[in-house]
Amino acid sequence: MNIFESDKTYIASTYKRFPVHLVSGKGSLVCDENGKEYIDMGSGIGVTSFGIADDEWQKAITAQIAKLQHTSNLYYTSPCVKLAEMLCEKTGMKKVFFSNSGAEANECAIKAARKYAADKKGKDCFTVITLKNSFHGRTLTTLAATGQEHYHELFTPLTPGFAYVEAGDIAQLKKTAAETNAAAIMLECVQGEGGVIALDKEYIRAVSEFAKENDIILIIDEVQTGNGRSGKLYSYMNYGIEPDIVSTAKGLAGGLPLGATLLGEKVRDVFGFGDHGSTFGGNPVCCAAAVSILERITDELLEEVRAKSSLIFDEFKNAPGVESVSGLGLMVGIKTVKPAADVVKECMENGVLCLTAKDKVRLIPALNIPEDVLKKAINIIKASCRV
Ligand code: PLP
Repeated sequence: MNIFESDKTYIASTYKRFPVHLVSGKGSLVCDENGKEYIDMGSGIGVTSFGIADDEWQKAITAQIAKLQHTSNLYYTSPCVKLAEMLCEKTGMKKVFFSNSGAEANECAIKAARKYAADKKGKDCFTVITLKNSFHGRTLTTLAATGQEHYHELFTPLTPGFAYVEAGDIAQLKKTAAETNAAAIMLECVQGEGGVIALDKEYIRAVSEFAKENDIILIIDEVQTGNGRSGKLYSYMNYGIEPDIVSTAKGLAGGLPLGATLLGEKVRDVFGFGDHGSTFGGNPVCCAAAVSILERITDELLEEVRAKSSLIFDEFKNAPGVESVSGLGLMVGIKTVKPAADVVKECMENGVLCLTAKDKVRLIPALNIPEDVLKKAINIIKASCRV
């Protein structure tokens, strides 16, 4: 059997893969088994922050793996402490819980918010309000948090205690919060899986203000938007708000599994011994990788991210076959006249790997994609957009 047949035989059929067998890469270039080279405009869905097989990232990992790859959370290790300190210093958050994925980072955020609300307001204060068209993960609780019914249908009953409101409608949010005795509000500043939609600044600020006034925990899901992707370290920093909890994963460790839930002042000590845990959470190798990534997300790099973002927006805004461009930083959605899947297929044939998000072509390249490589990719994608 070739790899396509073996995959079909032995791997649970949850993923509709592109017919490409990737074997190696460097930076923003990736190669398939036949030696065909592609420009990677998807970065493993926003994971390989500094591209594939990045030298500095590899050095950090190999140094740590040669010393200690895992200990369990029953002992002290320095990479996770160093990473937590860096995250707190860079965000003003107070404590961190480490896990292994975005869904787990959100699970922890929801547990922390519910515990805070139960301690402070009583056991019947547990509802988490999320936005319609949001995406928060695939576990039963984060599916419940995800405000898209089609994800729910096959897996009911989901975790109870979630309510959904329309993004942008602050009156509906306030009404729902009162009716449900809300414990928390959870949102992505840029809805990634929902179609790369950056939420309105005024709305986010109004949500934050309302949450503060009513002692409702504000959770910002930075799983996809975080770690430099938006042109700031975390996307909420574009909106001038201070969330109570921030969840992140994807690009944090540049390609190794790591989730982090950042706990602000209100919830810094909400967890006691045994309230939460994860065998692999805070793994030294993943944390060493993340330290090396965070050290490189400097102001200069963020400026470059914003400049490359402007280039993408400018190039596609009035391009033939393009209806609109949305997103923030290096997280861009392009609504094309042709079906997005057709554009992505044509790009792939012409040596560029792109993603889709709902009905859009999604571009989410490595933060350090070289400008000439980016320009080459843009030209190929533009040609594929033409009707
Ligand atoms: N939250 C957001 C905003 C996401 O985009 C995703 C994944 O796409 C998740 C949560 C879930 O992350 P993971 O697949 O690492 O569990």
